[in-house]
Amino acid sequence: MTKRVVLIGHPVAHSLSGAMQQAAFDAKGLDVRYELWDRSPIALGAAIRELKGDDFLGANVTIPHKERVVPLMDRLTEDAAATGAVNTITKEGRRLVGHNTDVAGFKVALDKLVGRQRMPRHAVVLGAGGGARAIVHGLIREGFLRVIVFNRHLHRAEALVRHFSKSAAHMELKAMPWHESIIESELLRTKILINATSIGLNSDVSPIPGEIVPAELLVLDLIYADTRFLRETRKQGCTVADGQTMLLNQGAAAFTLWTGQPAPVEVMTDALVAARSGGLRSAEGEVTGAEADDAPAPDAGPASDAAPAAPAGA
Ligand code: NAP
Repeated sequence: MTKRVVLIGHPVAHSLSGAMQQAAFDAKGLDVRYELWDRSPIALGAAIRELKGDDFLGANVTIPHKERVVPLMDRLTEDAAATGAVNTITKEGRRLVGHNTDVAGFKVALDKLVGRQRMPRHAVVLGAGGGARAIVHGLIREGFLRVIVFNRHLHRAEALVRHFSKSAAHMELKAMPWHESIIESELLRTKILINATSIGLNSDVSPIPGEIVPAELLVLDLIYADTRFLRETRKQGCTVADGQTMLLNQGAAAFTLWTGQPAPVEVMTDALVAARSGGLRSAEGEVTGAEADDAPAPDAGPASDAAPAAPAGA
């Protein structure tokens, strides 16, 4: 019987995970099909229940469901429990196990970005969703001493900070309101800036104007594309990286969890590059830039003004 692995998100069309994982299954000669399931929040519970069927090996979970699936799991691994977010699901019989391989993917991306420099101790994170939780967890584990989280809806950043209150007790982890002047002054105190919002995923907008970002910063955008945010901060003189390394490494870890085999990383890299050259595409979601002009963009509005942007879908 052909086994199935699904990516559950909203939206999921044009996901790069599909190309990457299918190439990996095929290269290993495994009879597995990777499917994209676009499920709105209201349809999430039914989709998760369906995974209990014998034909499913497991799933990936993406925007905007990573936190919502947590209570639907039968068991959580340490990283999933620590982050309060799940991006990969495996099975133990009919029981569903929630993992968070974004944590491992981020670690590789962070090490690559920092390179031979000393690991910094201060970071600014834009966003407080499922992806941001993996980032903050990774920064705490890495020994960061000051991490400031800005989010459009402040209460979500505050909930994130509360979630990590024990593991971050020895350090300064703060939620701050999304005001450009506050972000600008925090950027003067940091060495690393990470965009973990989905701003730039569906359209060519930046979460903050590049000109407020000091030249010496290391900048990571979780979105797998040369976003406006990356183009502007690169122009400032920053060292920048997109979400490719994180995407590849979270995907490789998920592959091993589903199959018990080492991931064919080269094949996966080639598939990602080929999929990307087929058009400007995001980390796990929709096409970006001009191609996306007529695509629905639930989270695409700019938030670069001094005041928080209007809540999308709220
Ligand atoms: P999520 O849980 O849905 O969170 C989305 C985040 O973006 C929230 O902080 C949200 O703020 C913010 N946001 C969305 N639209 C906004 C707008 N118009 N103005 C201001 N803020 C806005 O999604 P996620 O799973 O964390 O993913 C976030 C991004 O990271 C996505 O682009 C995803 O593709 C990427 N990602 C990449 C990787 C990788 O491997 N490269 C891994 C994980 C995530 P509110 O809370 O105020 O709505």
